[in-house]
Amino acid sequence: MSQLLYEGKAKKVFATDDPNILRVEYKDDATAFNGAKKAVFPGKGKLNNAICSKLFDVLKAKGIPTHFVERLSETEQRVKAVEIIPIEVVVRNVVAGSLSKRLGIEEGTPMDRSSIIEFYYKNDELGDPLINDDHAKMIHIATDAEMADIRKQAQAINSVLTTLFDGVGITLVDFKLEFGKLKSNGDIVLADEISPDTCRLWDKETHEKLDMCVRRNIADLPETYEKLLSRLGDI
Ligand code: UDP
Repeated sequence: MSQLLYEGKAKKVFATDDPNILRVEYKDDATAFNGAKKAVFPGKGKLNNAICSKLFDVLKAKGIPTHFVERLSETEQRVKAVEIIPIEVVVRNVVAGSLSKRLGIEEGTPMDRSSIIEFYYKNDELGDPLINDDHAKMIHIATDAEMADIRKQAQAINSVLTTLFDGVGITLVDFKLEFGKLKSNGDIVLADEISPDTCRLWDKETHEKLDMCVRRNIADLPETYEKLLSRLGDI
């Protein structure tokens, strides 16, 4: 049995014989609101792994550096070992969620610029506060050059994913990314996951929400994620 290194809300991470490679297992737990709402959905891990692996394959093919190596099984991925930078990077194309509340702008309002990027300090005790590049530097979690690198990569990822979802009639409203430094050479690469747990996805015609029902009506989750996976079927 390989050693369990970390267990989070949605995934378990195991060591392998190679110190530069890890095995990630997607769990069936669905949590939201910082763990307050919790449920288990048989099949959720499998769906998120399938969706995430598909998206990472496309990003890799477009030359975006990621930790993803391959999908190993229905619920597992092989990934490169990274040290996660404790910043949640949110990319927004349409106003929604906390941005709508913070600035008092109606949800669904398009932006008169291409996109915006926000940074949140990953810290449960502080409730993941919004920060900027200066704060990141002040608390020694990333240098100016690293923040510039992360911003550039987030924009490139947004461009690939926006085009991909557009092609299947879905608006990529916003999403959260995490980056890490490769154990092998320190390069900053996209890590963690991109899945309907971490994105807002709206059908362009019906405006149906094809994402993290986890934060809305938890009962719809398997059906919605299944629907999203089949929409992505041809990419
Ligand atoms: N997000 C996430 N994990 C978090 C917080 C946000 O994956 O801990 C994603 C969320 O799914 C959405 C985007 O980041 O696609 C922006 O979230 P927002 O700040 O609007 O907060 P929310 O309204 O989702 O709480």
